[in-house]
Amino acid sequence: MAATLPRKALFDLPEEVIYLDGNSLGPLPRGAAERAHEVMTSEWGRALIRAWNSADWMGLPKRVGDRIARLIGAPAGSVATGDTLSIKVYQALAAALAMRPDRRVILSDSGNFPSDLYMAQGLIRMLGKGHELRTPAPEAVAEAIGPEVAAVMLTHVDYRSGRMHDMAAITRRAHEAGAVMIWDLAHSAGAVPLDLAGCGAEFAAGCSYKYLNGGPGAPAFIHVRPDIVEEVEPALSGWMGHEAPFAMEPGYRPAMSTERLRVGTPPVIQLAVLDAALDAWEGVEMAAVRAASIELSELFIAEVEARCPSLRLASPRDPSARGSQVSFAFQHGYAAMQALIARGVIGDFRPPDLMRFGFTPLYLDRADVGRAAEILGEVIGSGAFRAPEYQVMGRVT
Ligand SMILES: *Cc1c(COP(=O)(O)O)cnc(C)c1O
Repeated sequence: MAATLPRKALFDLPEEVIYLDGNSLGPLPRGAAERAHEVMTSEWGRALIRAWNSADWMGLPKRVGDRIARLIGAPAGSVATGDTLSIKVYQALAAALAMRPDRRVILSDSGNFPSDLYMAQGLIRMLGKGHELRTPAPEAVAEAIGPEVAAVMLTHVDYRSGRMHDMAAITRRAHEAGAVMIWDLAHSAGAVPLDLAGCGAEFAAGCSYKYLNGGPGAPAFIHVRPDIVEEVEPALSGWMGHEAPFAMEPGYRPAMSTERLRVGTPPVIQLAVLDAALDAWEGVEMAAVRAASIELSELFIAEVEARCPSLRLASPRDPSARGSQVSFAFQHGYAAMQALIARGVIGDFRPPDLMRFGFTPLYLDRADVGRAAEILGEVIGSGAFRAPEYQVMGRVT
């Protein structure tokens, strides 16, 4: 049965906070702390090493991967979990380049998240084969896909503006040009409906601490299109991606499944927390999440524009071209965000001047969003953001 939204009771949010930063770090799901406690005390504490079998710690990465698969429109068995998103991007890209040995171009875009670009730069240096990373403007990516492109590596929803690529159209274009398609779903998984199976991209990867609420440093995931698994050469050929880890063979033999993209020992406690967090998605259809997200973000834009003429919408106005976040450009954006946070409305800031707000219908309703816009209006209208304490930059913005 489809669940109605929001499901606020499933989250342990502070009373006085309106949380508009679930696109960066999802809140604590109820039950997650208890799950971690149980894994630590009863499984680790009492069963000790036996828990790898008795509590099936060994099967946990795959069980969690199957739950994520449903949310991204991918078949069960096609998603491996573990490590961090940066590592999963590296693995996907390394495998993609090996699949197109005669081509030398990695095509991304100038809006991509820095870590994805840094990983590509590091891989290019490591390979030493003269690969080139091209980063045209996001709007120009589709036309830039040519016969020299080995891999198209894009983040589906832009972390700054929320602008969303047309996944099906770009994937089709990449395939027509003979390139391998890699999607980064960091701002898409749990935010918008996805159809990985339908679009046929070879690889997709994402993190689980944003919309999926797996907690800080939660393990990442990677999807590989099932029919190409055996073509995927794992660049990080660790024992957990081996066909038979406990055979302890001297030579590497990749698992004959997506599991070949696992590397080392899984983070059992974080995976258990993520598994508990995914309970909040049970019975939830992404189409309902999307409808509610559009309603909330449209309301926010209208309310903010009515109250704050000095803020400029930096996200696409057409909701079908945006993910589940909205950004406003404002010259004093950093200070204004600090003033807003001091008043219990939590969003974040991205340079040069973006105030960023995430819309997460699992635990936000219209009243929250209306109230947040009202408080933002007060902060901007009163000039309260000019106070000296709001000008000091923290290490994390
Ligand atoms: C959040 C994010 C990351 C972060 O990568 P980690 O390895 O988890 O730190 C990478 N890429 C994109 C597009 C992101 O939004």
